[in-house]
Amino acid sequence: MPNKRSGRKTKKYFCPFCEQRLWRLGTPKYHLFYKNATEIRQNTGISAKKAKLLALQNTTYLDPNKWIEAFCCQNHGKLWLLISLQEKGIEYRLAKEKDWLQTNNTLDPRMFNPSVSEFTRKMSRKPCLR
Ligand SMILES: [Zn+2]
Repeated sequence: MPNKRSGRKTKKYFCPFCEQRLWRLGTPKYHLFYKNATEIRQNTGISAKKAKLLALQNTTYLDPNKWIEAFCCQNHGKLWLLISLQEKGIEYRLAKEKDWLQTNNTLDPRMFNPSVSEFTRKMSRKPCLR
């Protein structure tokens, strides 16, 4: 049985500001959810018919191919990227406010309680400790 993993390179992520290599911080993946056929279609690029069907089957549709995850840049500290698995490969960009709203009401972790942000600030002096 052929090993599907062999020959597949690990995806590398780079900082959108300074193009340094980014490291995964191992946070949970905050998957995006869509509430209706229109949202599904706009975000996944599947056909209107299929989107309608998915919307009927699920109250909210979790997109298995799109999520927000934290990365670390040596110069910029913690960055949240929106990862999107496409047929041609992985695409990513900085997560926007609107992307967070799409994560089924997940709170933006950057806004968590003060003790956490205090911790983050301390960490950000040595942003790439793993
Ligand atoms: Zn950077």
